[in-house]
Amino acid sequence: MSDCLFCKIVAGEVPSDRVYEDDQVVVFKDINPKAKVHLLVIPRIHLASLEDLQPQHDQLIAHMMRLLPRLAREQGLEGGFRTIVNTGRGGGQVIFHLHLHLLGGPDLRTF
Ligand code: AMP
Ligand code: ZN
Repeated sequence: MSDCLFCKIVAGEVPSDRVYEDDQVVVFKDINPKAKVHLLVIPRIHLASLEDLQPQHDQLIAHMMRLLPRLAREQGLEGGFRTIVNTGRGGGQVIFHLHLHLLGGPDLRTF
């Protein structure tokens, strides 16, 4: 989608601090971190939100979810992490390209 910020990040047209990528997803640091570790996991394909998901995306979503513990470990989050998916304006979603927030660190309990 041409006017989507996260599609531009996938395409490399907008810079990001990438920590992981594969053929299905890109993972980068949130520009305004809410915790010591704050990553965004996004699909390479444009899906606006969870509302867009179809059965054909089941494997992609499973891949994104299964990636989270591995990313958390690689970030040194041995004690656990938090996953947030804001959906729709009423859910606090600002960027309409599906993304999983992965948060962790010592200050997490205060959020
Ligand atoms: P949400 O409210 O779930 O749509 O979250 C969007 C997130 O994207 C926020 O946490 C922002 O800080 C983050 N964000 C916005 N622009 C960028 C960017 N260029 N690079 C990295 N993260 C971004
Ligand atoms: Zn997009």
